[in-house]
Amino acid sequence: MTAELIDGKAIAATIRGEVKTGVDALKARGVNPGLATVLVGDDPASHKYVSMKRKACAEAGIESFHHELPATSTQAEVLALVQKLGSDDAVHGILVQLPLPKQVDEKTILDAVPLSKDVDGFHPLNIGALAMKGREGDFKPCTPHGCIELLDRSGVEISGANAVVLGRSNIVGMPVALMLIERNATVTVCHSRTKNTQELCRNADILIAAIGRAHFVKGDWIKPGAAIIDVGTNVIDDASRKSGKRLVGDVDFAAAREIAGKITPVPGGVGPMTIAMLLQNTLRSAQRV
Ligand code: NAP
Repeated sequence: MTAELIDGKAIAATIRGEVKTGVDALKARGVNPGLATVLVGDDPASHKYVSMKRKACAEAGIESFHHELPATSTQAEVLALVQKLGSDDAVHGILVQLPLPKQVDEKTILDAVPLSKDVDGFHPLNIGALAMKGREGDFKPCTPHGCIELLDRSGVEISGANAVVLGRSNIVGMPVALMLIERNATVTVCHSRTKNTQELCRNADILIAAIGRAHFVKGDWIKPGAAIIDVGTNVIDDASRKSGKRLVGDVDFAAAREIAGKITPVPGGVGPMTIAMLLQNTLRSAQRV
């Protein structure tokens, strides 16, 4: 059996189209959705991510307010900017690109983002709401929400499924596990101290891998017919490529594809969903105005 590909690029494009429709409707009512991006320092990867987010905003008709601060900025300077954006009515979402320079405390800055503009969904109260029955936070964190959307839009039944999540980070593993529980899956979370990860994986109807280790999950760990969402992004050497490098996931894709029912590729799976969900959150924020 060769698994069906879960095409994150195509699903993300659909969501971005839906966002554009929502943005056009808001603009017709006189509301212009706006996302502020805050970039501190010269990290090339951060610059690339922010420029991709701004480009996606432009395509969806969302205005982006970009702020760049030097790597030498003090915590007070970054905090003052975030607070100013927090009280700016034209700004519906604030994205502080991480990591921040070491003299700036990440927690202090992220806590300064008002809940109503936390379109990254990283505020502890937004994450905490995921753990409480009957509570809905203002926003869901983008990458985990993207994983759930990939399952939903590929027709994977979450309710009642045995789901295994590899990784328990604040930004992926833990929130995605909470979202799966909210959707009535029975969830097992594996981490670096888990003793029987392989066995647990073999029982997974849904497997979400978010640990950051190339090809960690082998083909024979996969339950036949399972849905696999591979969040991992790992660069490995590949002499056949001009760059000498290649991006791979946490799952041995070639082997897993022969056993799974549905699987995301890397790249082109979860990656494109993160920005799509950021745009969706920004629209949602502007719709509340
Ligand atoms: P992270 O903060 O480094 O967390 C890694 C998690 O994996 C930790 O919970 C760790 O366990 C667990 N882990 C490490 N070794 C393990 C093992 N042998 N068995 C089971 N669990 C193990 O990573 P992250 O930020 O969540 O990111 C995970 C991966 O997703 C990375 O490759 C990252 O690049 C990728 N990612 C992709 C996107 C995207 O596509 N948009 C977004 C975010 C992240 P402990 O808690 O015990 O240390």
